[in-house]
Amino acid sequence: MLRLFGAFLSPMGAQAGTVTEGVIAIEGGRIAAVLPGAPPAAADMPAAGTVVPGFIDLQINGAYGHDFMNAPESVVEVARRLPETGVTGFLPTIVAAPAARYAPWLAAITEAGRAARGACVLGLHLEGPFLNVEKKATNRPELLRAPDLDALREMLNDFVRIMTLAPELPGALDLVAELRRRGIVAAAGHSMATYDEAMAAFAAGVNYGTHLGNAMRGLHHRELGLFGALLASAVPVGVIVDGIHLHPELVRLAYRLKGAAGITLVTDTIAAFGMPPGHYALGTRTVEVDETTARVAVDGGYNLAGAVLSMDAAVRNMMAFTGCSLAEAVTMASATPARVLGLARKGQIAPGFDADLTVLDADGGVVMTLAGGEVVYQRAAGTEQRE
Ligand code: ZN
Repeated sequence: MLRLFGAFLSPMGAQAGTVTEGVIAIEGGRIAAVLPGAPPAAADMPAAGTVVPGFIDLQINGAYGHDFMNAPESVVEVARRLPETGVTGFLPTIVAAPAARYAPWLAAITEAGRAARGACVLGLHLEGPFLNVEKKATNRPELLRAPDLDALREMLNDFVRIMTLAPELPGALDLVAELRRRGIVAAAGHSMATYDEAMAAFAAGVNYGTHLGNAMRGLHHRELGLFGALLASAVPVGVIVDGIHLHPELVRLAYRLKGAAGITLVTDTIAAFGMPPGHYALGTRTVEVDETTARVAVDGGYNLAGAVLSMDAAVRNMMAFTGCSLAEAVTMASATPARVLGLARKGQIAPGFDADLTVLDADGGVVMTLAGGEVVYQRAAGTEQRE
C-alpha cells in the first residue's frame, strides 16, 4: 500500500474539475481509496503539485531519436522515458509501410511493447496503408493501397487498437465493419471524404477522426468535408496542439464545438522529439527538424511530418489557446483517449482505477509520474524547465 498525499484533480463525476487535498491510497497497481481531507500524517509520500490522471497519447511515431517503424524494439526505451512528459499509456504508430514489413513489424513491436516498463504500451495505431493518395502528406504514394479485406485480415493482430483509413475509398466501409467487429477503433484520416461521405462513414462505424484538420479536405463553406463533419458530429477527434498544425483560433473553435469529451490531445511526435534539430527518420522518409517543426520535402514543396510535441506541452497549449481549465485539458489528455480505447479503468482518479498518475507543478511541468502504482519518473530537484 502506497499513500500519496496532495492536491488531486477529479476530472469527471460529481466533483468534476475540482482540486481537493487528501490521500490517494494505492494497492496492487490500482487506486484503492481516495480520501479527501485525510491528514498527511496518514500518508507515505507527498505529491509536490497537483495529481492528475496520467496522459494517454493515441498517436506517436517515435521519440528520443527512435522511430518505431525502423526500430520496433525501441518502444522499450521510449516507454521508459515518456513518463518524463506525464504519459502513462500510448499507442506506437506507423505510417504506411511496405506490405511485407507489417507482419514482422507487428510481431516485433507487440513482443517489445508487452515487455516494456514505464508508460504502458496500450496497443498499436496503424496509420495506413489504406489512405487517399491526394492527402498522403509524408506517406510514400507507392505504399498507399486500395482497401482490401484480405490484406487487412492478414495485417492485423490483437494488439492493434486503432487503424486510420480514408473512408471514401471504394471498399473502405467493409474494412470499417471488420475493424469494429474486432473491437478496433476505425479512424478516418488522410482523406478527401466529402461531408456526405464522412457522415455515411460515421453511420457505418467510423468512430474517431485522426488529427482534425490535418491531411483532410479543407473546410469549404459549401463542402465541409470530413473536417466539417467531424466538427459537426459527436465523433471524437485527435488534435495536434503545437500551434503549427492548427491555428490556435481553430483549436479554440474546435474545443467550443466538441468539448473536452470530444477531443483527444495527441502529439503525433516523431523520433526528433527530445533531440536537437537535425535530420531524422519517419518510416522511409527523412525529416528536417528545427526547434518547433518537422518537415519533409514532397512534390517540390514541404509537408509537415508529424510533430515535436510532448503531451504536457499539449496540455499547457490547450489551456493557453482555449482558456479551458486544467481539469478540461487533462480530460482531453486522459479520460477522453481512455474512453476512445474503451479502457474502463483509466483516465480518472477514483477507486478501482489503475494508479496511473501524473503530478504537475503550478506551471504545468511534470514533477512525478506513477504508472500502475510505481513511480516511473521523478524530476530531479532544481531542474524545473519549460520547453
Ligand atoms: Zn497523419
